[in-house]
Formats: sequence, structure tokens, C-alpha cells
Amino acid sequence: MVCGGELLDEGLTLPAQPTVVSLRRMNQVLDINLGRRTVRVQAGAKLSDIDRRLGAHGLGLPIVGDHRDITAGGFASVGGVSAASHKHGLFIDQIVDLEYVDTDGRIGTCGRTHHTERFQRILGAGGRAGIITALTLDAIEIDKERTWLTTDADRFLDFDSFVEHAYAEIARPGNAELQVGRWVDTAPLKVARPVGTGHVQLGTVRFGQWSSLYPTAPTRGLRARREVGSRARKSLGAIASAAPGKAGMPVRNAAAGAVLFAPKVQTLRDAEYLADTALSSSERGPAYRVGVFAPLSSYTSVFYRLHDLFSGHRERSGCFTVISAMTYGVRSRYLRAESAARGLPPEDHGLITFTCRLRPAALPSELLRDIVSGIEEICRSENALRYEGGNG
Ligand SMILES: Cc1cc2nc3c(=O)[nH]c(=O)nc-3n(C[C@H](O)[C@H](O)[C@H](O)COP(=O)(O)OP(=O)(O)OC[C@H]3O[C@@H](n4cnc5c(N)ncnc54)[C@H](O)[C@@H]3O)c2cc1C
Repeated sequence: MVCGGELLDEGLTLPAQPTVVSLRRMNQVLDINLGRRTVRVQAGAKLSDIDRRLGAHGLGLPIVGDHRDITAGGFASVGGVSAASHKHGLFIDQIVDLEYVDTDGRIGTCGRTHHTERFQRILGAGGRAGIITALTLDAIEIDKERTWLTTDADRFLDFDSFVEHAYAEIARPGNAELQVGRWVDTAPLKVARPVGTGHVQLGTVRFGQWSSLYPTAPTRGLRARREVGSRARKSLGAIASAAPGKAGMPVRNAAAGAVLFAPKVQTLRDAEYLADTALSSSERGPAYRVGVFAPLSSYTSVFYRLHDLFSGHRERSGCFTVISAMTYGVRSRYLRAESAARGLPPEDHGLITFTCRLRPAALPSELLRDIVSGIEEICRSENALRYEGGNG
């Protein structure tokens, strides 16, 4: 079993297995080629470090994950998506070539233009096709600290309008640098009263927001607002992590709200890590996660069907509490080639991820099996692909 760097314990990592190889110390940026706009790195290098090094040369990685410890080899092994994927595709679309050690201990290289079959097999294989030791990545000309983005946000109280809007934005993103839709749907909260007086119902929250972030010119006022915005987000994150259990529910929701109500204007760098500063501390606790790449032709149908599957199970068994979804567009050469290889039209995709907070006692393994086979059936009939990285 290979792991990229530090083992995270946020309930978002892959299932625990004995670690036999860690690339934590193979973390060097080996070469930046300004002419070709590429960067050569060891597989354990963190994307945030690579991006910072590139920044000094007016370059950056088009796709980085939203937490700072993700490594190049780890991201290459899952696929790698971000809110810029509607524009730049997956992380693995940016890989020019890589060096690996196969399961027999042989060192090899492969890339876009040589040993392409092996290249396809290793990308997204989760370490099962060998260990990636070094990668060459495409960079783009960008100054992430000085690229200012303004958010156009649309808010929705009903799920259908949210999904229709998300589809329209994914199909026609215009010149948005980043885009993301989030939907949150809480089960009615019941709070116990003293014995014999019953429960009091606190109501349900169903709320969605689509955010498209467009380039804008910076002014002094905008910079000041950026400062205030990031301080507020960080403190909400701190409050949320310090307020566990039922008592913490309203503050945790407020922290999630900080992401929904992101600052109107921010730098590209801040926007890329927004979830890392606020949401990660508010997202602890057992959850069921699934990520799916839906071809645009079946995007809305996949979204409705997954939603109905999870909310149906919640209604019948109470196994889930809060159901939330996140979505954005993915224009990926890799995914188009996958579709073509399966005899399907080479389409663009939308990523749809669901996170369902769960009550472990109400989710026996038979029920979990039902849910998993429901998801598989939706993917099969709609030509959608599971995203294992999103599964965490
Ligand atoms: C808080 C959080 C936020 C996240 N945000 C995003 C996001 O925005 N976008 C996204 O796409 N994903 C996201 N993920 C999922 C993330 O992409 C995967 O967890 C990613 O693989 C983590 O990289 P890592 O370096 O930590 O790898 P690990 O978690 O250590 O490994 C991931 C997989 O790759 C294999 N692997 C690791 N290194 C190598 C190597 N050198 N060679 C071969 N196989 C290897 C491992 O065996 C494992 O199967 C997030 C995860 C977390 C915990």
C-alpha cells in the first residue's frame, strides 16, 4: 500500500490499511522548465509547495486540491479535480510523463507520447499499478496572489431549480475561473424535552448556492475586504471544531455557511483553499461520501436519482442526517478518452459529490450494500463513472 504523505485523520482518507511505502521524504521540486512551462517533481511533493515554487516564476498549477497536504503522486493516483476543472480538466490531464516502479521492482517511464497504454493504466489506479516516483506536470502562466476573482452567487430554496441552474452553468461557464455549486439539506432536527413533554421540531434547512468566480480588477477597497473575509472564515472554522456534538450543530452549520457565503472578492489562491480554511474543521464525523462523473447528457438525471436514493433512505430508515452535495464542470481529455474507449460519445462531464452525515447505528451493512448497488445501477444506466478520490 502506497501513501503520498502524512496520513490524515479527518474521516476523509482512504480506508485504513497497513502502510508499506510512504513518499513523504521524496518531496523535491526537481526542475522548472520556463520555456516549456513544465515542472518536474518527486511524487511525494505537495501540490501547495510546487505551486508556491512555480509562483516565483509567474507560473502555477491549473488544478490543485482544496487541502494543502495532497501530493503529486497521490493526486495522480486518484484523478484530481477542482473548481477549475470546467476549464482545465483533471489533475491527470496535466501530467506530461511519469516515472514509476512496477510491482516487480522495475523502474520505467511513460507519458502522453510514449508507452501510452501503461500511462493510462497507472493514472488513477490508486497505487495498484505501481508506485509513481516522479512526474512532469504542465504549468500555466498565472499569478494566483494577484488574480482577483469576484463571485456571482445564485441561491436556491428548491432542489430542482438548483440542479437546472448548475447544468446551465456547467454547459456554458463563460469566462469563469472557478465554479462550484453546493446544496445542503438537513433532516428535521428534534431536540428532546424533559421526560413526558415530547420533542420539539426545529425544522429543515434546504438551501443551494451556485457560485461562478470571474476575473476582476483589484482596488484597495477589495484588498481590505479580502482581509476581513479570511479572518471571519478562519474564526468560524475554529468555533465549529471547538463545538462538537448536538450543542455544536448551529455553529457548525454557521461554519458551513461561511463557505456558502464566501467573500464577494478574493484572490485565486484564497479561493482554491477556501474549503481547507473553513469547511474541513466543520466536516468531522462519520459520513458516507460518493463522487460521480456524469456525462452532460445525463447530468440532471444522475443528480436527481442520487438525491432521491439518499433522501429516500433517510426518510425510511433515518440512517442519514444532513445530506449535502457539491458539483462543478469537468472538461477532461482523460474522461473523454474513457468514454470513447467504452464506445460512448466523447462528452464533457459534471462532477457530483454527495456527503451524507450518518447515524452509524441506523446503517447496518445490508442497508449500505443496498445503497452501494443503487449507486452502481445509476452509474451503469447513465454511463456515469465513480470518482474514487471524491470518496475520500
Ligand atoms: C481534506 C481533503 C480534501 C480533499 N480535496 C480534494 C479535492 O479538492 N479534489 C480531489 O480530487 N480530491 C480531494 N481529496 C481527495 C484526495 O484527492 C485524495 O485523498 C488524494 O489522493 C490525496 O493525496 P495524498 O497525497 O494524500 O495521497 P494518499 O491519500 O496517501 O493516497 C491516495 C491514493 O493514491 C495512492 N498513492 C499515493 N501516492 C502514490 C504514489 N506515489 N504512487 C502510486 N500510488 C500512490 C495511495 O495508495 C492511495 O490509493 C481530498 C481529501 C481530503 C482528505
